[in-house]
Amino acid sequence: MKFSDYNIADEIKQQLNDLGFNKPTDIQFKAIKHILDGEDVMAIAQTGTGKTAAFAIPTLDRIYRNKNKYKKSGIRCLVMVPTRELAKQIAKVYQDIGKKTNVKTFGLFGGVEQEQQIRTLDNGIDILVTTPGRMFDLISQKAIVLDNVEFLVLDEADLMLDMGFAKDIQDVMRFIPTKRQTLFFSATISKKIKSLAYDVVKNAIRIQISPKNPVAKTITHTILDVEMDDKRFFLENIIKENEEKKMVVFARTKVRVERIVAAMERVAISSEALHGGIDQKERFAILERFRTGENKILITTDVACRGIDIPSVDCVINYDLPDNPENYVHRCGRTGRGKNRGQALSFCSESERELLLAIEEYTGDRIDRYDLSQGEYYEILNDSDDGSYNWKKLIEEENKFKGTDTEW
Ligand code: AMP
Repeated sequence: MKFSDYNIADEIKQQLNDLGFNKPTDIQFKAIKHILDGEDVMAIAQTGTGKTAAFAIPTLDRIYRNKNKYKKSGIRCLVMVPTRELAKQIAKVYQDIGKKTNVKTFGLFGGVEQEQQIRTLDNGIDILVTTPGRMFDLISQKAIVLDNVEFLVLDEADLMLDMGFAKDIQDVMRFIPTKRQTLFFSATISKKIKSLAYDVVKNAIRIQISPKNPVAKTITHTILDVEMDDKRFFLENIIKENEEKKMVVFARTKVRVERIVAAMERVAISSEALHGGIDQKERFAILERFRTGENKILITTDVACRGIDIPSVDCVINYDLPDNPENYVHRCGRTGRGKNRGQALSFCSESERELLLAIEEYTGDRIDRYDLSQGEYYEILNDSDDGSYNWKKLIEEENKFKGTDTEW
């Protein structure tokens, strides 16, 4: 089935065609018709599957068709998401797909000035994509009225729970009509997610996309045994060997991210750090520079592991393995998107072996090990342009020879 066969407005069909979307993806095929029929949907699908358009296309279509018939203006569709980056990105998907329509979408989030946001809301919007905090703030200031909402979309619901937004989801119900269509999207399923979903959806159509194998098939996964202190030399080597490639490097903490950027700078590799300690405006600018390819190496914490859709990331490097095995899947999902192929390379030090076992248990697959001889390993350390290794090597060699009576 093609989009041209769907009962959706021509302006949306033409735009999908311009965007290069000809055929629906699996989740779109399974969800769009039910949403157009007015049914609630509960879907388990990861980013990368095309799930944003799965709810954006039908909600946009319904709002566009009715726009001229509405007696009162007001927000018709509320999309709640856990992070600011997602709010911005999903609003952009709506704006792109709705480009040839007069439907107005606005992405709202905290960390920036409110005045401009209030002005945009006052001018009238149809679709609001938002994080909970700023939304409640503006509801209390009466800058947001949700009385006319027909569609409630909860995206990345599992991350919303992880980030402590469960109460916000329940609270928002007080502001929106009970007669509405609810679309619930989560990357993973658990008892908690199910109970949250059943609180908000009614007789929902349930859709699950590849539940058994959460790791995308377009990605090659490899583990490299690297000692903690040697990781930066390996990263340097990989980046230098793959100059043209776009990479996302994940590390455990903000401080480690900053240190890696500094270590790369010492060896003339330019990269940018992204983490929660960086001002929101700057975070968007960093993502934009990475998106356009102005910066090719993004070094980040798990703040960027979910949802962010940046095309043509060639490789994800897990500089540190994630504490939570689920995040391994989310991190690796930044590459191999759509039909592209991607590579996920993970450094595993002695102290991270247990984390690796937990990941393999979670994904149900043993990840291939990169077979590196001791000689090759030391060659990589030796090749580094960072003088610090040579000092380290001298001291180590000195220690090795201590206690032997060779005097040369
Ligand atoms: P998402 O899972 O919503 O983050 O989407 C992943 C990527 O798939 C995005 O870059 C979309 O632009 C792309 N995409 C979504 N639907 C389609 C489609 N039907 N055909 C081609 N690409 C698509």
